[in-house]
Amino acid sequence: MKFTDLDLIDPVLSALKDKGYSEPTPIQEKAIPFVLDREDLLGVAQTGTGKTAAFSVPIIQLIHQFDGGHSRDAVLRCLIVTPTRELAIQIDENIRDYSKYTKTSHTVIFGGVKQHSQVQALKRGVQILVATPGRLLDLISQGYISLNDIKMFVLDEADRMLDMGFINDIKKLLKMLPEDRQSLFFSATMPDNILQLSKTILDNPKKVEVTPKSSTAETIKQYVYYTNRVTKHSLLVHILKNEDIEHVLLFSRTKHGADRIVRNLKKSNIHAAAIHGNKSQNQRQKALKDFKNGKLRVLVATDIAARGIDIDKLRYVINYDIPNVPETYVHRIGRSGRAGEEGIAMSISEPEENSFIRDVERLINQKIEIVEGHPFPQTERPMSAAEKKEWNKEKQKRKQEYHANRKKSSNGRGRQYSRR
Ligand code: AMP
Repeated sequence: MKFTDLDLIDPVLSALKDKGYSEPTPIQEKAIPFVLDREDLLGVAQTGTGKTAAFSVPIIQLIHQFDGGHSRDAVLRCLIVTPTRELAIQIDENIRDYSKYTKTSHTVIFGGVKQHSQVQALKRGVQILVATPGRLLDLISQGYISLNDIKMFVLDEADRMLDMGFINDIKKLLKMLPEDRQSLFFSATMPDNILQLSKTILDNPKKVEVTPKSSTAETIKQYVYYTNRVTKHSLLVHILKNEDIEHVLLFSRTKHGADRIVRNLKKSNIHAAAIHGNKSQNQRQKALKDFKNGKLRVLVATDIAARGIDIDKLRYVINYDIPNVPETYVHRIGRSGRAGEEGIAMSISEPEENSFIRDVERLINQKIEIVEGHPFPQTERPMSAAEKKEWNKEKQKRKQEYHANRKKSSNGRGRQYSRR
């Protein structure tokens, strides 16, 4: 199947050609005709399947056909709501690319930054608005956005939206949308609560589903390095000596862990930056931009921060630790090998994480290839239950001593300070 088989107009086809897409992904093949037919859509698909183009390409076409290009009195026709800022920015960037020959006007709004430039963009007249829920409701209540002329509504990543506590915002929003509209609803998973929510939004929808990550095994080569806890960093530096690894997304379970990895990599002259919840929006965007532009070699991310970020042609993913929830592993490595690209996922397991590797193997129903003969092999064994208990006690003791010492030294400083 080709894009030309999908009833798409020339300006859209040219833009897709410029992007270098030769044929539609399965979700695009299925969804685009329904959207062009003005049907409501229930899409079960995750990021990485090409779902953004699946909804934005036909939306751009419909707006172009019904409303024409942007004019001073452009009215808002389409609202796309998505849970994270990164995802919102990416969707808007995609819309910019796909609409480059149509003059459709669009903008993106999200929280965590000043609203001024977003308000200015809205005032210039926008046909497609991509938004995160909080900032959207805020700017609606300030009177900068009217939903009265909306003809199309997209709720993206509905399951994450609910995970992130946006349900009340969504309910509020639904009350403000015109009844007579076309709605598209996307979610990676479809548990009961999401299905119920979809029923309050969609009218007799067409269902489109793309098989999630069973393709993982086919398109992603997976390796595991067994090592000790103390040699993890040296092993990582050893892995990164391979210059083929030009860019890599590296996962860390914790924010502090992510910062520590970046500090250590910098000591080895490896250009790295972290994105996680303690970083400002600007820091996160800069790191992501540098990574996408190829200026940054290693992007270290926590699972939450990595949600929804889309990086074109990402070949390598490294798990610096092994998640204890095997689905998280599948999510992480799904960031490589996107849209038919071959990906490579490497995991570094310390003795305490060996059992997590076995859990993953059970879930994906596949053995992960072990890298033998590296310079930092695992020589320790996992702790027994009794040792673990002892170690936890010891950790607790060390923590208390640390805090007691800190208190003492800060008291000392306090006295010194008051003497001066
Ligand atoms: P998405 O699921 O929308 O986040 O898209 C995942 C990635 O696939 C993005 O980097 C898109 O640029 C890319 N992509 C989308 N559609 C196609 C296509 N038809 N052919 C090749 N790549 C695509």
